[in-house]
Amino acid sequence: MADITPEVRALMRPSAAALEPYDPAFSPVDVILSANENNYGIPSEVAPILAEAVAGAAWNRYPAPLGGRLRARLAAWHGVAPEQVIIGNGGDELLFNLFLAFGGAGHTLVSCPPTFSVYGLYASMVETPVAEVFRGRDFAPNVDALAEAARTATLVVVTSPNNPTGDLFPREGVRRLCEACPGIVLVDEAYIEFSDPGSSVDDLLGEYENLAVLHTFSKAFALAGTRVGYVLAGAPVVAALAAVRQPYSVSAPDQAAALAAVTHREAFRPAIEAIRLGRGRLSAMLGGLASLGVRVWPSQANFVCARVPHAHDVWRRLRDEHSILVRDFSSTPGLEGCLRITVGTPGEIDLVAAALDTILKGE
Ligand code: PMP
Repeated sequence: MADITPEVRALMRPSAAALEPYDPAFSPVDVILSANENNYGIPSEVAPILAEAVAGAAWNRYPAPLGGRLRARLAAWHGVAPEQVIIGNGGDELLFNLFLAFGGAGHTLVSCPPTFSVYGLYASMVETPVAEVFRGRDFAPNVDALAEAARTATLVVVTSPNNPTGDLFPREGVRRLCEACPGIVLVDEAYIEFSDPGSSVDDLLGEYENLAVLHTFSKAFALAGTRVGYVLAGAPVVAALAAVRQPYSVSAPDQAAALAAVTHREAFRPAIEAIRLGRGRLSAMLGGLASLGVRVWPSQANFVCARVPHAHDVWRRLRDEHSILVRDFSSTPGLEGCLRITVGTPGEIDLVAAALDTILKGE
């Protein structure tokens, strides 16, 4: 990617001029454990159905702006009205639209870092002031301080399970934030399908008009390449998000693929279960390296966060000597020494565990 020259930067809106192009830190490797994708892919029995649905999409027509059948199917699945569902070009677009609709100068965001960096990025793009309430020991969120900050906020965003620490945000904490905040409380549940049953706060939507819950097809449903996410919220909040969206942001083939995935969602269960089992195995393997200075935190997502000695070096050696890419968070405030490792297939788990063992034992 070329640099933004000073001449071009001088032409940019001040809040945009402060930015650099997003770098997903991707390198070509054999084993990709860096982006929390679903390495099992689409279940073999669903793949042909999905392909047929995509091929049969009306390619010459603009897609249904608000998702048509996909929206109706999502509403039925979650037991809400279609007016309470909005789809987006990945969860990312919905997050951006959240800031476009509710952020801006004088509209404070409360966030709970270390967390998904995109919230801060989108907030700054639309000049939203951010009140950061840092997590404490072992990444535990400070719910008292968050609730206090929420009292004067327009937006609160919490992530459950959190990326990259893997912990669920306490349900009681969500209630307190919804009660304290005069604005919108978004719970980002991008990874919720990997969590224990009953972890979602979707069922609180009927109780709190200011609650919004973000979901995506990129993780459990193995559709990161299609770019479809959705938010569940009260109908007026959905209408506000609809007002700022690009009308045709989710293509017809992508809507068709997501609809096929929702329709056959039970077929995704075995891989989700395998990832949950794999997470336990990976965590235990990393726990077994404690004598070498490794620390791993419990996770309810499809990744684990681990602190390792000389983390950046370990990350580089995993990539260069073992062709395994994980995510290096060691220079992120609050995540010193931390790597995030996506739970891959059983073979991939064995490979990353063996490679870490070799590197850390100095072999
Ligand atoms: N929320 C969280 C916490 C994430 O980690 C991600 C993806 N990395 C997203 C939302 C957005 O995912 P997508 O745009 O692929 O739906």
